[in-house]
Amino acid sequence: MSAPPGVFARELAAVDLPGLSARSQRATPTEVDALLRRVDPGGAGRPAPADARLGLDELAVLLSPAAGARLEDLALAARETTLRRFGRAVRLFAPLYVSNACLSSCTYCGFAKGLPVARRTLDLDEVEAEGRLLADRGFRHLLLVSGEHRVEVSADYLVAVVERLRPLFPSLSIETQTWSDDTYARLVRAGLEGVVHYQETYDRARYAQVHVAGWKRDYDRRLSSFDRAAAAGARRLGIGALLGLAPDWRADVLALGAHAAFLSRRHWRTEVSVALPRIKPSASDFPPVVVVSDAEFVQAHAALRLFGPDLALTLSTREPPAMRDGLARIAVTSMSAGSSTEPGGYGSAGTAQEQFSISDERPPAEVAAMLVRAGYEPVWKDAFPLVDASAQG
Ligand code: SF4
Repeated sequence: MSAPPGVFARELAAVDLPGLSARSQRATPTEVDALLRRVDPGGAGRPAPADARLGLDELAVLLSPAAGARLEDLALAARETTLRRFGRAVRLFAPLYVSNACLSSCTYCGFAKGLPVARRTLDLDEVEAEGRLLADRGFRHLLLVSGEHRVEVSADYLVAVVERLRPLFPSLSIETQTWSDDTYARLVRAGLEGVVHYQETYDRARYAQVHVAGWKRDYDRRLSSFDRAAAAGARRLGIGALLGLAPDWRADVLALGAHAAFLSRRHWRTEVSVALPRIKPSASDFPPVVVVSDAEFVQAHAALRLFGPDLALTLSTREPPAMRDGLARIAVTSMSAGSSTEPGGYGSAGTAQEQFSISDERPPAEVAAMLVRAGYEPVWKDAFPLVDASAQG
């Protein structure tokens, strides 16, 4: 049985996403100019204004083709906002894939049930061995990732994984199936800090087309999972849309903005992070229905930064080095580095199917060195201060 719509699903249903997307297409250069003057009244970065609070209508303008023609100005304004709110700090984390077993069938994923790929679920000693390799590389923020297999990756298994890794990692998050209130509470008691569940697309009809079977097929259960996780004490909530999955990428970024604003309002003690992965090659051979260009990708990040100055923006190794290095200077505040997307891939690569291929293969130390050369501090351990960095002298 499907879950009933939660509070945000009802709020989203009242948002006219097609209308906002059409509004984006119609935005004029004059409207873009006026908005840029609001978010950055002195021109690129001079002087620092109080952050303008923008609504979805303004986000639609920032995502417009007209704003795309002003990408440099948009990026400069976003950069100043990022510096003002986060300072020169970029958090580094690593994904640790504990299993690629999956009982769901998502047409875009290399782990989907039924695909003839090599499957592996790590035992606790193997998990710890992978964790120690990542700890030796400097990581203290870890994202535990798995397919959706309620037997191989049960609640008991995941709690045991968190307990095993907690002494090595002060910050642990999960990107797994969604859970009940009780399981989130057990995971938090074991030391879990964050929960990541990408909605992939907020377009219900498209969601049903690509989530063919399994637990993840339930749109409303997935969308309401954050209320259960936050109520259980999770301090970081990660949301995302997979660009290329639905034909109207602007509508998905608008919905993602609405979701981020909702979570920030409702769970104000938590850090809300947002990600916009683009579809990469995988064993699913899924073709993107729309190609989001590099310029549009940068625009979407800059627009989200101006819409949500306090949002953590996360970027994975799906993107190539040049894109990652550029976005770290504009909007991104959290990056994975040196990633493997196969279970056991750090210590024994090639023993199981990867989820998708990565494009930035630089070791973590090299990514950290890039940030230092750019004048940024790679943050391995500490949480971002959730206060205005400009107020700290
Ligand atoms: S996206 Fe997640 S739930 Fe869907 S097939 Fe892949 S691992 Fe399974």
